[in-house]
Amino acid sequence: MINEEAFRVLVVNLTEGKSEPALFGSPSELLGGSGLAAGLFALYGIMDAPADHPDQPLIFAIGPLTAYFPLMSKVVLGFKSPYNGQYAESHAGGRLGLALRFAGYDALLIKGVARTPSCLIVGSRNIGIRDVHYLWGLDVLNTGKHLRRFSGKDSGHRSILRIGPAGERGVAFASINVDTYRHFGRLGGGAVMGAKRLKGIIVLGDGSLPLLGGKAYRDLYKTVYQEVTQTPAMKKYHDLGTLENMLPLNELHAVPWRNLQATHDENVHGITGQRFAEELLLRKTACSGCPVGCIHVGLLREKFAEQNEFQYRQVSYDHEPVFAAGSMLGVTNAGGVLTLLEEMERQGLDVMSAGVALAWATEAFGRGIVTDKETLVPLSFGDVEKYREAVRHLGLRTNDFYHFLGQGTAAAANHYGGGDFACVLGQEMAGYATGEVFFASHTYGFRHSHLDNAGYSYDQKADSKKSEDAVAFLIEEERRRVQLTCMVSCLFARNVYSEERLQECLASVGLSRLAQSVVARSKDVQAKRWQLKYLTGYNPSNISIPKRFEEVTTWKGGIDKVFMDSVAADYQNAVRKLAESGQSVQSS
Ligand code: SF4
Repeated sequence: MINEEAFRVLVVNLTEGKSEPALFGSPSELLGGSGLAAGLFALYGIMDAPADHPDQPLIFAIGPLTAYFPLMSKVVLGFKSPYNGQYAESHAGGRLGLALRFAGYDALLIKGVARTPSCLIVGSRNIGIRDVHYLWGLDVLNTGKHLRRFSGKDSGHRSILRIGPAGERGVAFASINVDTYRHFGRLGGGAVMGAKRLKGIIVLGDGSLPLLGGKAYRDLYKTVYQEVTQTPAMKKYHDLGTLENMLPLNELHAVPWRNLQATHDENVHGITGQRFAEELLLRKTACSGCPVGCIHVGLLREKFAEQNEFQYRQVSYDHEPVFAAGSMLGVTNAGGVLTLLEEMERQGLDVMSAGVALAWATEAFGRGIVTDKETLVPLSFGDVEKYREAVRHLGLRTNDFYHFLGQGTAAAANHYGGGDFACVLGQEMAGYATGEVFFASHTYGFRHSHLDNAGYSYDQKADSKKSEDAVAFLIEEERRRVQLTCMVSCLFARNVYSEERLQECLASVGLSRLAQSVVARSKDVQAKRWQLKYLTGYNPSNISIPKRFEEVTTWKGGIDKVFMDSVAADYQNAVRKLAESGQSVQSS
């Protein structure tokens, strides 16, 4: 049965080579996932120390419904971001959520630094730190092949996390690869793992979980299962996937093209969901516990001239990666996009940040702000082979230019110039150019992510141009999403898991008290996260929206700067008040 009294957390200290299970907090206080990670960071995190401080924790947290309902498949990573120095969250699926549940933990917290490059192995019966110095420098895909040999065939829900050269070298947007096709992508979790000399983490879900009894639970599970598999609710994610958005967004003039110099391009047909499905789609796969299967895997076929032979590789794709390695770089053939995605994957880079950073570099190169002395390869929109070389330089931080670019596009623009056309909204932008509310909410949002608060949706659906209406929408949408990321649900299921449905699910697994208080607690967690962000240095007056975003034209016409500035100002006020309303956070 689920323990309503306390979370079970495994605390690993790499410096001491020790670990111990601890009881911490409770679902009735923190819910789980986002709330659990924030609560643990409040206790273990060092607010005023840098992200690579040995004692900064890396926290992987699941929620009370993990493994008990469909699509409760995600894990929240809480950490201090090397990208902006602030408390951050990143979310990933794969097999990790179920592996943690079956290993018997609600969270895994890692602190300290290993003596040599290491792999941490965590199971229900054994915990070990293995020296893998011979893997240091290896790319993500080859590292995965080696790590798979470390666990036996009967390891249950085994999950394998690893970093590539970018994480080892401290690229501020290095990602953590989870089970090959999922990622803790944004804000640099990979660099924190690298600073801990952790090349890999294997979680063995080798324990067992008591089956929940009761007709109410079984009936509810069946209802949810049928809703996600037999109604239109999740159909688009399984069919063409999120890349279905590319064509209609392009029609709306809302796709960033060539460093956001345009929002529409006739050549979109080379990179639509339809084109990928017809030419490259090999199979679809899913996170553990998800019957939808939205992960689209394409087949990349490449001829190597020297050996005169073909190589075949499997690369996953989605709307955001295809925007970053496609439209943003002017690459309009699906195979070219997969080629770049595979290279970014190998290096262990967040593909969204990497694509947007290279788009800025291309425009800077075209304007003569940087030359090939800096970029080492002549960059031009659409040139896949040159971009492939540049991705390697970015992962390896080959020279000063790639070192700065590896700190983020804004850092590079600060050094070389070109800040006006840096497509940075708190971090490198996501693949929507829908207008004022999206630009403002991405810039000042908690994770600087389109998924924080759905500003893109307000731009497309709402008529009101009152900033108070937009901000009320953003704050409530963020709370609703926090509620889901506490559970930890895939956000694609946000329409399936309404507030009432979530309460029913909690009650059916024996968490009736929690079901009644989930809305109030989600507000607390929302406030707590903002409080941590402020305590770790968030200062909205240091952030601005670059000029390029004022020059955008969408289906609605030009950007209304007065409206955008007003949403930005009111939103900043609203989140400051939220942070002030949070209960005081203790720091160790
Ligand atoms: S819908 Fe996709 S991302 Fe979400 S849990 Fe299922 S497979 Fe994973």
